[in-house]
Amino acid sequence: MKIAIIGIGTVGAAVATAVHGTGLAREIVLYDRDGARARAAAEDLGHASAFCYDIDITAASSYRALRGSDIVIIAAGANQKPGETRTDLLQKNVAVIRDIVPRVMPYVNPKTVKFIVVTNPLDVMVMLTQQLSKIPTQRVIGTGTMLDSARLRTLISRMFNVSTQSINAYVLGEHGDSSVINWASMSIGAIGLDDFVRQTKSSLTQNARKTIEHRVRNAAYDIIRGRGATWDGIGAAVADLVRTIVHNERRVLTVSIYDPTTAPRIAMSMPRIVGENGVIASLRPHMAPGESTALRQSARIIRKNFDAIDK
Ligand code: NAD
Repeated sequence: MKIAIIGIGTVGAAVATAVHGTGLAREIVLYDRDGARARAAAEDLGHASAFCYDIDITAASSYRALRGSDIVIIAAGANQKPGETRTDLLQKNVAVIRDIVPRVMPYVNPKTVKFIVVTNPLDVMVMLTQQLSKIPTQRVIGTGTMLDSARLRTLISRMFNVSTQSINAYVLGEHGDSSVINWASMSIGAIGLDDFVRQTKSSLTQNARKTIEHRVRNAAYDIIRGRGATWDGIGAAVADLVRTIVHNERRVLTVSIYDPTTAPRIAMSMPRIVGENGVIASLRPHMAPGESTALRQSARIIRKNFDAIDK
């Protein structure tokens, strides 16, 4: 398994560390337009290898070194500065994706390669990567709301003192300010949330729900205020996605892929079964009427942002 990571900034480096930690790659290639940065990261991670796995970690000086990559992870581009939204990054990162994807394609097998897109604004970048690479939609996968869903599960876990592993909770739609918290399908074990609250004599007031929603949607802003960027969560999310693909685990993850059958035609996050060939099936969870309305609005926002790209 050869994995290429493009963009070795804060996020790309964390992704490299987390993917390395899975032990699933035989070879990891790091590329950044700042070659010194990629070389330093490869050197550092190479030393880490001596403590765990023999993995061939190199910095690429040109895209040719990506030849034969099974998975290409794109984490390059501008990040949010304090107070900036993901959408503020749109035009800058459109240029980054337009620079990268055509340069990768000559060196990968379009019949098998999988792209994992991390760059924000995520859903629009997934659409653009798919459009430029022309590979099937199910193999251009954005981490989407995997991280938002993890944040939601963490808050629910702390509230009810139950392992995150037993909490099924999805954030749907845009990986951004219009994301939708899908309370209606939430369960702890196989017990619906309201039933769980009743059985355990706990409480979940409307105010508590609003606070959770606010914290999920604003987690990135809070972290960026405190430490300048976010990296650990997204690194773990990408490693989890890589594991699901490499082991053909067919787990249900809230990832973003372009779906030309939806109206409007966009990429956004829904629960999807992911395996060795990428997304195998997309699912529609039970949603309250307000959640369906919010999801349609989220879809319109993604489409509007995509349409605003300089053509
Ligand atoms: P960063 O500024 O630390 O690093 C970006 C890196 O990209 C730099 O090393 C830069 O040299 C490189 N780069 C820029 N243009 C390039 C190009 N054309 N070719 C190759 N390399 C190029 O930023 P960061 O904090 O690592 O964030 C990277 C991206 O990840 C941002 O868009 C950020 O918003 C996004 N992000 C996404 C999630 C998510 O959940 N999807 C989470 C956190 C961050």
